[in-house]
Amino acid sequence: MDRFADFLRRQIDIDLELLRWVREDAESGTSRGCFITIIRGFRECELKARLLRVHQWCGQGSGPCDQVGDAFPPEDERGCTTRALLGLPYSDRPGYAHRWRP
Ligand SMILES: [Zn+2]
Repeated sequence: MDRFADFLRRQIDIDLELLRWVREDAESGTSRGCFITIIRGFRECELKARLLRVHQWCGQGSGPCDQVGDAFPPEDERGCTTRALLGLPYSDRPGYAHRWRP
């Protein structure tokens, strides 16, 4: 299951790095980046990271979805529906496994 969580963390890190480049270009005046879009992007990354943190143990017996009986079995790398949905925006990126689709 860690492979899926590692994939998600890596994608969030990639998004953060891309946002930093856009922000730097906008701040230096080399491009006309929209600061509202950049701020929203950072907030969305924070949301995804927080959700992943809350659901990091789902499917291993001690996550919130395990407590309510809504986690996937341990052999399912996704852990729970929330984690599976977090991966959906990254389904076109290299490394995403089709079986991770919600
Ligand atoms: Zn969960």
